[in-house]
Amino acid sequence: MSVYIPAELRRRVRAHFLQRCAYCQSGEALAVVTFEVEHIQPSSLGGETEFENLCLACPTCNRHKANRVIGLTDEGAEARLFHPQRDSWLTHFDWSVNGTVIVGLTVIGIATVNLLRMNRLQLVEVRSLWAIVGKHPPN
Ligand SMILES: [Zn+2]
Repeated sequence: MSVYIPAELRRRVRAHFLQRCAYCQSGEALAVVTFEVEHIQPSSLGGETEFENLCLACPTCNRHKANRVIGLTDEGAEARLFHPQRDSWLTHFDWSVNGTVIVGLTVIGIATVNLLRMNRLQLVEVRSLWAIVGKHPPN
């Protein structure tokens, strides 16, 4: 379900997240797709269309997240997903030494990496190319 988000609110969210996916940190300028403003708490679960409940997401993270707020750890335990407006990315995630893989540091980070497939093969490959030209990881 798509909910109307006013243009000014979308602009504010894009600026707040520095035109990067709030989850996988990909830069929109490096991608060939337009990123989407998504509801962190899905509107189908009562999430409001307000700044505090919106983030910028690449289409793939957004598709994998869909209307979910819970993911699974590597051991199969449920954990809530990372909340880009309330949580700090660096508290829950880090980059591997070569910067191509996102490492979940907490159960929230691990569950989010797993559900959103933040280390999908194509993304790991393209991160290595972005790193070669000095565009990755973001700082
Ligand atoms: Zn993403």
